[in-house]
Amino acid sequence: MNSRLVRFAAAPLALLLSAAAVPADEAAADRVRGHVQFLASDELEGRATGSRGYAVAAQYVAAQFASLGLRPGGTGGGWYLQVPFRRATHVSPPQVRLRVRGRTTALAHGIDVSLQPSLLEKNRSIDAALVFVGHGLNEQALGLDDYAGLDVRGKIVVAFSGSPTGLPTEVRAHLDASKPEAAARRGALGLIEIPVEPTGAPRRFGSLGRPRLDWIDTAGKTGATSLLGARLAMTAKTAEQLFEGARTPLASLRAQAKSRRPVRGFAIPARLTINAQSSWHDFSSPEVIGLLPGSDPELAGEYVVLMGHLDHLGVKEDAKPGEDAIYNGALDNAAGIATMLEAAREFVQSGKRPRRSILFIANTGEEQGLLGADYFASHPTVPIKQIVAAVDLDMPLLTYDFTDVVAFGADHSTVARTVAQAARGMGIAVSPDPMPEQSIFVRSDHYQFVRRGVPAILLFTGYANGGKARWDHFFASVYHTPKDDLGQPINWKSGARYAKLNYEIARALADADARPRWYRGDYFGDRFAPGEPRAER
Ligand SMILES: [Zn+2]
Repeated sequence: MNSRLVRFAAAPLALLLSAAAVPADEAAADRVRGHVQFLASDELEGRATGSRGYAVAAQYVAAQFASLGLRPGGTGGGWYLQVPFRRATHVSPPQVRLRVRGRTTALAHGIDVSLQPSLLEKNRSIDAALVFVGHGLNEQALGLDDYAGLDVRGKIVVAFSGSPTGLPTEVRAHLDASKPEAAARRGALGLIEIPVEPTGAPRRFGSLGRPRLDWIDTAGKTGATSLLGARLAMTAKTAEQLFEGARTPLASLRAQAKSRRPVRGFAIPARLTINAQSSWHDFSSPEVIGLLPGSDPELAGEYVVLMGHLDHLGVKEDAKPGEDAIYNGALDNAAGIATMLEAAREFVQSGKRPRRSILFIANTGEEQGLLGADYFASHPTVPIKQIVAAVDLDMPLLTYDFTDVVAFGADHSTVARTVAQAARGMGIAVSPDPMPEQSIFVRSDHYQFVRRGVPAILLFTGYANGGKARWDHFFASVYHTPKDDLGQPINWKSGARYAKLNYEIARALADADARPRWYRGDYFGDRFAPGEPRAER
């Protein structure tokens, strides 16, 4: 008899039977802990998109869906929607040359300039004229058209990074992310971002030249990140060379940008040549999808999406011997998946099917740019117009007993009312965004649904009851490090409450007579769901 069995035999019978009497919230907390312990274990090796660890995690979620009695919601009657990915890597440092006033300068890759590897062309050879386009924004709804009167077809546009201050941070973050799309729409061949500041480099400079992952479907269509022939970033110093001989000196353009005066674009008397080779690695990684069919014959053809990302950052490649190298992602986002599974269980255990159908989705490729959710939204397994709302469970900070939540995205649509009501019912306050500088609204998977016109939200645990200190600590020293593991003091009852709140919100959205609507005049509604009925605030 081994020691474990001895201990088991010695346990009093009352302890063994007490499981039946465990309060509901404790039982839910235990289930959330069980899921997180498995998903964030070292054996899953950080669940990197496309890795073996991710594949095991996907199997786990599918098995949980099956055990709950959900129906497979993937393709071919299975649990998965396989996302075809391509990783592009520079074979050697790309050659980028700048020609100004008859003089050619070679720019050092990674020092002066940074070029994104291509997912569409293995060998790129570009020689193009340059056009300055202010901040590179083209948003009619906001009266912003930095391309007005400029012919950028077949040219490379040069734009200040960021966007004019004075706009709401969520709108700014969206505009910032949409610049390549705006340039491609106008027929530009490429986009160079330069900093407004006279020193340094744009925010993306360091990451832009690294291996790039995106989805690419059988028709050769890729995600929005790969639309352009060339995407570059330049240091402030290199940008100075670019504007030698330009009709307006860069210094005064910078001053205009800072003073919020419109910065008019113009053709720059310079050309850029690019010679670059990419190598590709193609693989697939699944979205895991479970379906709970609705009960109302009138509404069952509509869907509420409840989702979280299952992927994380994998294993640290440059770890020193003995260093913890595994990005376990316990809170980012094993906790979101665990609480989604618990919310799914609430639906099933309620014994009352929701009127609308629920799609539970574990997303892949989130950490690499919300890629799995983007692929799903472009290749949905149900008609996207029939998805009435999406609720995203990402990175709930469960290291304290939260008493308030922040609902990113809620105030754009009537989902706000549902969130307020559900939170009130649980004695939880709803607080305004305390970290607008983080632009959380565009930094998780729900944003890919917003871009297709679907009202969507993400709940964060709030700053009250010690939350601020926990968030500050988390962002400063835990977020996206191997320390986001089970060594953290996780409050599993907070996990159960986060699950319950998301369940209550999804339940109310699924059972309501009317589907959620964007508020009249809301920027995101007007931009992505034009022509649809609106709600008054
Ligand atoms: Zn993350």
